[in-house]
Amino acid sequence: MDYVTLNNGVQMPMQGFGVFQVSDAFMCEQAVSDAIKVGYRLIDTASVYGNERAVGAAVQKSGIPRQNLFITTKAWISEMGYKQTMQAFKDSLIRLGMDYIDLYLIHMPFNDYYGAWRAMEELYASGHVRAIGVCNFEPDRLIDLCLNVKTVPAVNQIEVHPYTQQIEAMKIMQSLGVQMEAWGPLAEGMNGLFTTPLLTAIGHKYGKSAAQVVLRWHQQRGTVAIPKSVHKERMEENFAINDFVLSQEDMETIATMDTAHPTILDLHAPAEVERLYHIKPIS
Ligand code: NDP
Repeated sequence: MDYVTLNNGVQMPMQGFGVFQVSDAFMCEQAVSDAIKVGYRLIDTASVYGNERAVGAAVQKSGIPRQNLFITTKAWISEMGYKQTMQAFKDSLIRLGMDYIDLYLIHMPFNDYYGAWRAMEELYASGHVRAIGVCNFEPDRLIDLCLNVKTVPAVNQIEVHPYTQQIEAMKIMQSLGVQMEAWGPLAEGMNGLFTTPLLTAIGHKYGKSAAQVVLRWHQQRGTVAIPKSVHKERMEENFAINDFVLSQEDMETIATMDTAHPTILDLHAPAEVERLYHIKPIS
């Protein structure tokens, strides 16, 4: 598996595994156990997913030394602010049963995220987290944050897949030294991603599925991707992307799928922002 070096020197796996919408504890523990067996070393959770305990249990039972795993969790909107984020971090550590986190992220660009960032900078300085970053920061907010903090985010986790390619954001993040991480890397299967003829035809040339083509495309663009699946055979499929290389022509063909708009989550839609504010992490 390939690793990318973050702006603070920390090595991050390029292939990760996400557990959003796996709220059932038994199912989540099973999924993370399977993912680790398949070869995943990066696990992406969040306080708001309600499954940090299950992730921690699977990690503990895996027998894989902690330093060989890369664990990400996130602070939710209601956990923004210096004191709130400090407390949220302690709560996440307890639920995960860990004494440090590899990557701690601000989940949404709302509420007092500057206060949260000061807490995260302290947690980073004290060695409780190896890297800190953000999610869902569009270029304007990301530039503003970078210009006003001591520690530039190591990662920005945003919606990225063939329908939402984030071309401008990618350029800006490269110039700021912020690693792009794709959430919804398979577009959650929307718009027929897994059966779309453009992708299946490319896959056919290499004996690969549309999902594998998309995950390879992420890797070749230098983006960390964290696909979610509760099916072990799909985890295996999604992980098996290191034995083929998409040609320049394939990359250009996939580039034509971009709509230059969010497909899954539009953070400019007032109703979406209100909906997100109503969600609370489960302790
Ligand atoms: P994904 O793009 O990873 O798609 C997941 C969906 O695709 C599931 O329904 C899964 O079904 C299906 N699937 C996965 N692999 C295959 C395959 N090979 N063939 C067919 N179907 C497949 O969406 P997510 O939203 O889950 O994003 C991934 C991760 O990103 C999340 O789990 C989470 O960790 C993170 N995330 C972060 C956000 C943020 O705001 N920071 C927002 C959203 C996600 P099944 O499970 O049944 O196999």
